[in-house]
Amino acid sequence: MRKPRIALAAMAVTATLALSACGGGGGGEGGSAQGGGGTSDTIRIGIKFDQPGLGFKNGDQYTGFDVDVAKYVAKELGYPEDKIDWVSAPSANRETMLQNGQVDMIFATYSITDTRKKVVDFAGPYFVAGQDLLVPKDNTDITGPKSLNGKNLCSVTGSTSAQRVKDEYASGVNLLEQPGYAECVTAMEGGQIDAVTTDDIILAGLAAQPAYQGKFKLVGKPFSEEDYGVGIPKGSDRCEAINDAISKMIKDGSWEKALDANTKGTGYKPNAKLNPPTPAPCA
Ligand code: GLU
Repeated sequence: MRKPRIALAAMAVTATLALSACGGGGGGEGGSAQGGGGTSDTIRIGIKFDQPGLGFKNGDQYTGFDVDVAKYVAKELGYPEDKIDWVSAPSANRETMLQNGQVDMIFATYSITDTRKKVVDFAGPYFVAGQDLLVPKDNTDITGPKSLNGKNLCSVTGSTSAQRVKDEYASGVNLLEQPGYAECVTAMEGGQIDAVTTDDIILAGLAAQPAYQGKFKLVGKPFSEEDYGVGIPKGSDRCEAINDAISKMIKDGSWEKALDANTKGTGYKPNAKLNPPTPAPCA
């Protein structure tokens, strides 16, 4: 199966799938091979660049829980940190990026859903979050998704968060969709928005940014279950190996350490009944 590849200049040399037939073991610059479960030069991993505590780019530094899980898994698959190409994977682009072969794996607060499973595969889950609402600290009338009548709500295009509002709570709510949650929070700071909705862990990370200290609060009553999976192209043979790596990360304590370090100071408490999850069997 050959798919046309989007030739991102910097990544062209690492294009693997289409070249694997002639890759061989030469190790030449243009011939990174990925056949038979072997390793290629680099692995392209999609993450968020704008979600502090989860996936965040600061200069050439990438931080967050998704990044830490991705690094651990990549290492288990044979790719140390310096062999990872980090690629921005906004919510609305994730399926397309996997379908077009622009990335090999996605760790980007990416909920496993039946709709997405029609076009991509998932390993994991490696975390379970819940959809919640972030509101200005002094707000008292927004107490859950049913109290949003007449309110201006912000979420992100292509997210389960925006979709759920449209499917279940649409009447009377003005939904503004942005490319990222950071834009939503900026709009709420500016007063144009009454509430931002997405997963609790994302909102907690954004609200804890120094610039927002004391300005916002989480409503704190999650109204969905978001199973964060590792997005991989449909038919990928990596699912089992990724699940094994996640299980190992949980077992050896690295998972908890990473979660603690990345949520420190946010006040966020993961749902202890649902975390850590057990990766689901691969299809
Ligand atoms: N976990 C949800 C989703 O996959 C919301 C967070 C996000 O947009 O990344 O759509």
